[in-house]
Amino acid sequence: MLKNFQGQARKLVAQLAQLGIADTTVLDIMARTPRHAFMPESLVHKAYENTALPIGNGQTISQPFIVAKMTAILRQAERPMQKVLEIGTGSGYQTAVLAQLIEQVFSVERISALQYQAKRRMKQLELHNIQMRHGDGWEGWRSKAPFDGILVTAAAVQVPEALLAQLNPDGGRLVIPVGDRQQELRVIERFGDDYREQKSGEVRFVPLVKGELA
Ligand code: SAH
Repeated sequence: MLKNFQGQARKLVAQLAQLGIADTTVLDIMARTPRHAFMPESLVHKAYENTALPIGNGQTISQPFIVAKMTAILRQAERPMQKVLEIGTGSGYQTAVLAQLIEQVFSVERISALQYQAKRRMKQLELHNIQMRHGDGWEGWRSKAPFDGILVTAAAVQVPEALLAQLNPDGGRLVIPVGDRQQELRVIERFGDDYREQKSGEVRFVPLVKGELA
C-alpha cells in the first residue's frame, strides 16, 4: 500500500481543475479517495496519474478526469441526486466517489470476480450506502427504479431503452458513452415522455457487453 497518498491525490486533483473540472465538491472527494486501493498492487505506483489502468478481466479503472467529468455532469441536473444507478462497477472507484456525494447508490456489474473485489473495497472504506448486483446493465435495475441519475461507465452501441425507462420522469439524468470505436458522451434528461439530449465530447471506454454474464 502507498504511504501518504494524500499528497499525490491533491496533485492529481489540481491537474483535473486545470483541465476544466470546476465542481470543487467532486474534486474534494476525489482528493480523499484512495484510488490506489482500487487496482492491482503492481500498478499502485501509477494510481494518481490521470490515466485509465487495467484491473484484470480485460477491463479498466476509468481515467480520473472522466470520473470527475461524469460525476460533475450528473450533479448539474436540476433535480436533487439522491438515488443513482451506475452501470459497470469495475474496480468500484467511480462507485466510491458517487457514494460520498449521493444518499443511495446502486451499481450493476456483469463480471462477478470484479464485483466481489469491489464489494470488499466498499466494506474496507466503510461505504455502506451502496447496493451492488451481478447482472446485465442493459436491463438496468428495474425493481429499484426510478433513478434521479444513471451513469454508465462502458460504451453502449446505442442507448439502452431500459435505462431511459428507469429515469425519474421529473428531470432524471442519464450520462452515457455511446459508440463503438468512435464514442461520444451523451447526457439525456427525461421530462415525462420527452427526452432531451446533449453531447459532451469524445470519450474512450471498454464496451458495454450485451446479455451473457461472466
Ligand atoms: N467504473 C469502473 C469502470 C470499469 S470498466 C471503474 O472506474 O473501475 C467498465 C465495466 O463495465 C467493466 O467492469 C465491465 O465488466 C462492465 N460491463 C460491461 N458490460 C456490462 C453490462 N452489460 N452490464 C454490467 N456491467 C458491464
